[in-house]
Amino acid sequence: MAEVTGTPVYVYDADAVRAQWRRLEAAFASVPHRVHYSVKANSNLAVLALLEGLGAGADIVSGGELARVLRAGFAPGDVVYSGVGKSRAELEAAVSAGVGLINLESPAEFDVLRAVAGALNRPVSVGIRVNPDVTTETHPYTQTGARGMKFGVPLDGVLPLATAIAAADGIELASVGMHIGSQIADPASYAEGAAKLEALVGAIRGAGIDSLTSVDVGGGLAVRYTDERMLDPQAFADAVRPLHEATGLTLLMEPGRYLVGNGGVLLTSVLYRKHSGGRDFVIVDAGMNDFVRPSLYGARHGVRVIDPGDVSGAPAAAAADVVGPICETGDFLGLGVELAPLGPGGVLAVGGAGAYGFSMSSTYNSRPRAAEVLVDGNRFGVVRARESVEDLWRGETREPAWQAETGADG
Ligand SMILES: *Cc1c(COP(=O)(O)O)cnc(C)c1O
Repeated sequence: MAEVTGTPVYVYDADAVRAQWRRLEAAFASVPHRVHYSVKANSNLAVLALLEGLGAGADIVSGGELARVLRAGFAPGDVVYSGVGKSRAELEAAVSAGVGLINLESPAEFDVLRAVAGALNRPVSVGIRVNPDVTTETHPYTQTGARGMKFGVPLDGVLPLATAIAAADGIELASVGMHIGSQIADPASYAEGAAKLEALVGAIRGAGIDSLTSVDVGGGLAVRYTDERMLDPQAFADAVRPLHEATGLTLLMEPGRYLVGNGGVLLTSVLYRKHSGGRDFVIVDAGMNDFVRPSLYGARHGVRVIDPGDVSGAPAAAAADVVGPICETGDFLGLGVELAPLGPGGVLAVGGAGAYGFSMSSTYNSRPRAAEVLVDGNRFGVVRARESVEDLWRGETREPAWQAETGADG
């Protein structure tokens, strides 16, 4: 495949995504529930269409993702819109499209939504994303449910907001929810958050508001990349099922990584071997612009040799740093990786690259973004062409159409 598309290339396995989907559905078989795939993990149209075909809804965090999921074929009513900073234009697009649920993250956002819904004269179902004050054992950058973080409405702000929503015309409070972070392995964190949601549902109903139809327990299920603890979907289901049993409400969930993370690899070619300062380097054609997780989160992904290439000058099997071409010392795919003999022209597969791989990629160092391929059984197809160099400056101009600067505010 790498011969056809060149490298770097992301390769996704449809059957692996289907298998994860079935595991999650099996764990929740006896509970009224709905899975909304978190689009930001991997937003390729073909991956979205695959999950839509399996029966998933979509969880989105931007107007761009809204456009993507509609393009991929999701019904607007199957879309949940989350996110801490939705702009007025994004809210207008969501209300116009008729998305199923908008998760509010602040009273100020509710004010804007109310104005938008009134102006468009469209009914809206909303949820309140709660900050349940739950700490989790994950990377600091992927914790979202602890007190003092930017996400969600603090516990003591939920009832006042619920009351304001219930009093508004044309807006219905359908859900309360949480998303406590990403790569969470301990089911106790979910159980703790679920207990707080349960208490909030009681308080909201106690205030005479009886419009709730669902509770949203978020995403964040941990996968195993190398030796991490993973969250078994059954343990996740056991942790949140009591929330359904106590409230009678449908459970919504928003997994991203769990569904697609281990269903993808990044193939990259070896450019050079180098020995310097007592370390062995494998210099490859994929960098942190293509796959940022090792640099950003210190994530350790499996790296294995697919094709050894020209091993004539290569050192024997040994630990090496697999590094990219970017002008940053933090540009690596793996440090101290045990690799079979490998030389220029060889190909490596970086595992666990199906989630937060391409979707977090950039063109830093003016590197066109990688191609994406979907494998389905014994066939494969390119689902995103490699970017061209002309794509790099699309929208730029050497000489702008200058305009007069008018005042202090521009
Ligand atoms: C990112 C995100 C998710 C998905 O997280 P995963 O760790 O990929 O499961 C779910 N819900 C919201 C609101 C998110 O921002």
